[in-house]
Amino acid sequence: MEGLPEVPLFEDDEEGLVMKSTDQLDPDNFVYMNFFKSHCCYDAVPTSSKLVIFDTTLEVKKAFFALVANGVRAAPLWDSKLQVFVGMLTITDFINILHRYYRSPLVQIYELEQHKIETWREIYLQYSVNALISITPESSLFEAIYSLLKNKIHRLPVIDPESGNVLHILTHKRILKFLHIFGSMIPKPRFLQRKMSEVGIGTFRHIATVQDSATVYEALSVFVERRVSALPVISQQGKVVALYSRFDVINLAAQKNYNQLDMTMREAMEMRSCCMEGVLKCFPHETLETVIDRIAEAEVHRLVLVDSEDRVGGIVSLSDLLQALVLSPAGIDAL
Ligand code: ADP
Ligand code: ADP
Ligand code: AMP
Repeated sequence: MEGLPEVPLFEDDEEGLVMKSTDQLDPDNFVYMNFFKSHCCYDAVPTSSKLVIFDTTLEVKKAFFALVANGVRAAPLWDSKLQVFVGMLTITDFINILHRYYRSPLVQIYELEQHKIETWREIYLQYSVNALISITPESSLFEAIYSLLKNKIHRLPVIDPESGNVLHILTHKRILKFLHIFGSMIPKPRFLQRKMSEVGIGTFRHIATVQDSATVYEALSVFVERRVSALPVISQQGKVVALYSRFDVINLAAQKNYNQLDMTMREAMEMRSCCMEGVLKCFPHETLETVIDRIAEAEVHRLVLVDSEDRVGGIVSLSDLLQALVLSPAGIDAL
């Protein structure tokens, strides 16, 4: 497979993400890696799902409204002149546009009103990913996980090489769900009974958070600067009271209040239409199995690791779980 190291490294690592050399002898550690190597992307494609595609000549504002109207999080971009898919439009792009062009509640965001997707891409692509990252249906799910993590993206289109059609957009969530459903047939590895405090899976330092009194614009700035997928919202007492994910930003398009980025996080959270009650958390004393079950059943991208006082101690994201369970055993540290 292109770009993957051929020889497993099995190096010890400060963060505990890469396997220690003694763990090489324990077959338990390779169960998930082998599972994903033996299933292809096509296996994880649902029999039916909605797919929205945008022509790059569409205006960006209409495109974001169309994401909302269709209840999808991202769309492949079709260049009709070149007759190829050239990239993706995701909520991160909406965040980048708002953050770059917002001035004040009194000034209309001209660029959002007027720009076409292609105009935005000409400006933005000078600084970021500039080609579509995709995968074939025959590639293994292991390769899909590697691509998602290495490229730091959350949407991976599965494209049929024969027809050039997009069959599905794979995500970390879909891949974990696949494991949760079909992985129940494989024997449970013993390390699932280890505590979160022992396995070291997640990020525990420099957690990006936002105060509930901060403005939405400030939260968008953290998304842009830290490139994280969600921010725990912290009260004056230092407790986590909500979670603001990139997905929640699309509510600004849904409610047409993207010109009011000076509202506080507290106000924005109250206005959320499809919000989950409370924060989905985990504790250091809980087992890895409990955490995997909770994150898979709740269908969220991360849990917030907290102490008994609800103070944030870390983030356990699907990226961290897939890195630790699938890529680390292969000697790959994609994060
Ligand atoms: P989100 O979490 O908002 O859905 P991503 O993390 O997937 O977004 O996207 C980050 C950036 O990478 C965005 O600018 C998006 O357009 C781009 N991107 C996402 N997926 C792909 C892909 N498969 N190929 C190329 N660019 C992508
Ligand atoms: P995506 O499918 O784009 O990865 P997310 O899982 O980030 O979406 O978010 C989907 C919804 O679930 C959002 O409204 C978000 O606020 C909520 N959510 C995600 N993670 C948590 C969490 N740990 N606690 C509470 N709500 C969450
Ligand atoms: P994600 O973008 O959620 O798939 O995660 C990519 C990496 O960023 C993982 O190692 C996460 O633990 C980490 N991460 C996610 N959210 C935050 C955050 N708010 N602060 C710090 N790290 C984070």
